[in-house]
Amino acid sequence: MAIEIEKKDFTKLLAYKKHCDDNNIKPPIFGEQTHHGITATFKPKEKFTLIINRKGHIRHDEFTIVMRSNSNGTMFRYDICGAAHNGIPTPHLHIFDSMHNTGQNVIYGKKLISLGLLTSIKNNYDIHFILDTCLPNFLEYNNVSIDKVIIDDIIL
Ligand SMILES: [Zn+2]
Repeated sequence: MAIEIEKKDFTKLLAYKKHCDDNNIKPPIFGEQTHHGITATFKPKEKFTLIINRKGHIRHDEFTIVMRSNSNGTMFRYDICGAAHNGIPTPHLHIFDSMHNTGQNVIYGKKLISLGLLTSIKNNYDIHFILDTCLPNFLEYNNVSIDKVIIDDIIL
């Protein structure tokens, strides 16, 4: 279960300029999950973890990205492909702050475009598009520098 993060703490955590501890990101193969360390560049005690999850139980194209503050808990869960949430299909974004009922009120549709996460909404996203576009957009949205980040493309 995710714990709600107070809005002011959430805003502060999101605003930190961040970088990946290892700029070479190797995403998981299907059925696996990987963890990637992220640090606030000017506040190095503030650590974050990017979790890339492909452990689909129902759909075999399931792809979820999580941004977690190591001190405050999960901030975002971005379900790009996977199960609907209260009838809202993927892609949708869970925000675990006090403004979004601890991730229950998901962001979807045009709102994802306005946040810069997507440029168009589809039901299915190709794995290469997810790795080349969705993942970097999510990192940028979280103020993680992607200048030096290399995301390995993977075989399904
Ligand atoms: Zn969801």
